[in-house]
Amino acid sequence: MKAFIRIWKVLDVEEIKKSLFVIGQLSGECFHCHNMGIPVDSKVCPSCGSRFRFIAFRRKTTQSVIDRFRLKHPDSVFIEFDDFKKNIDRDKARRILDI
Ligand SMILES: [Zn+2]
Repeated sequence: MKAFIRIWKVLDVEEIKKSLFVIGQLSGECFHCHNMGIPVDSKVCPSCGSRFRFIAFRRKTTQSVIDRFRLKHPDSVFIEFDDFKKNIDRDKARRILDI
């Protein structure tokens, strides 16, 4: 039997920033250039050409949603947007405080 089991893995946040597709309700956003309104089945950003290797969902998601998108993006890694966002925010705060 195969099932979704969420895992904790150390990933390069800078790498994710360059190739993250953030899927919203009807369309997606390229995290690299912040182009919005990208069709959800796109593999590459039509604006900056980034290849979407990572996919995150702006809202809380369910297994059935991920299952559906996994068929459209079989080679992408699905990440938890909150985890990514927390690290980005922490990094921004560190830079502002210069620590
Ligand atoms: Zn882009």
